[in-house]
Amino acid sequence: MEKLTVLGSTGSIGKNTLDIVRRVGGFELVGLSCNENINEISKQIEEFKPKFVCVGNIELAEKLRGRFPFLKVFYGEKGLLQLIEDSEADLVVNALVGTVGLLPTYHSLDLGKRLALANKESLVIAGRVLKRLADKSGVEIVPIDSEHSAIYQCLEGKDRSAVSRIILTASGGPFIDRGNFEGITVGEALSHPNWEMGKKITIDSATMMNKGFEVIEARWLFDVTYDKIDIVIHRESIVHSAVEFVDGSIIAQMAAHDMRIPIAYALTKPKRVELPFKISLADLGKLTFEKPDFERFKTLKLAYEALKKEDSNLGLVLNVADEMAVNMFLKGKIQFRDIFLILEEASERLEGRMPSDIFGVVSEIGRVRSGVGELLMRRVGG
Ligand code: MG
Repeated sequence: MEKLTVLGSTGSIGKNTLDIVRRVGGFELVGLSCNENINEISKQIEEFKPKFVCVGNIELAEKLRGRFPFLKVFYGEKGLLQLIEDSEADLVVNALVGTVGLLPTYHSLDLGKRLALANKESLVIAGRVLKRLADKSGVEIVPIDSEHSAIYQCLEGKDRSAVSRIILTASGGPFIDRGNFEGITVGEALSHPNWEMGKKITIDSATMMNKGFEVIEARWLFDVTYDKIDIVIHRESIVHSAVEFVDGSIIAQMAAHDMRIPIAYALTKPKRVELPFKISLADLGKLTFEKPDFERFKTLKLAYEALKKEDSNLGLVLNVADEMAVNMFLKGKIQFRDIFLILEEASERLEGRMPSDIFGVVSEIGRVRSGVGELLMRRVGG
């Protein structure tokens, strides 16, 4: 039995991961974590009987200890690190949402654990630092993100020096045909045409910041420079991404848009397991591809600019600014179009050098957070 710890087990990716564990077998779930949803995690504890759990704060930890006297319960960001250490998992699934996922990614790699990564934010913030650490620890980061899982699968067993381009597909989100972004409501932005996901990533899909982050994620996962990564709009979300080789061959991965397929592969690769989510190409009839609009979706431009200036902190800035701006949008405090303005402004004003170690990264996150806070205050106040 392989020992597995799932960080963020009550979110969309977390629940899908547990569903795969249920279907596939061969895993012992030793650790779980959630932020606030202790009713859901209580059900998971009853079903999977982990020895270690981490929740968002001490009050929730006390509640859980009351319910499960034999369970070791940690809390807070430090608790996540203790959970990774004490649960002694062979494989850590990081399905945390946002910046909070960074240190658990770092810690897992530092301890030499296999890491299945759904928290793309880790790589957006500190790709180079994490890549260096993974190389030093001799562990591989296996992507859960559907596009990156596709690329990973397309690259398997191939001559890496024969790769000419990475082709990231994007559904384009709900506003792909919308001329401008005036007056978009939270409800409209939360209705994604294809994928069922958490709120943060659904808004990121609507602004296409998610795709921008995925370009940065691909840069670090597959060690390719930005000029070799393309985005193509593919509304049907069936081709999950592709790789072009020097001879002109393009190898793509296709599947239903169900996150359980890339999750299962990250857990069992190179073995494939039986899953019931099949598609019929004949029923689909046709697949379409279009160029993305970098003018309307400035988020894409910003992401490429961040990669062009590789020694800058711009990935970190975009990640922090986006997290704060999306939060304000979800609370109804700023407009949808303001998210783009905040991201542009933050990139212009808060650019600096990228720190070379994790301590520097953490303090840079703090500096950028307060900078973005000021930009947001001005927008909300004015
Ligand atoms: Mg994705």
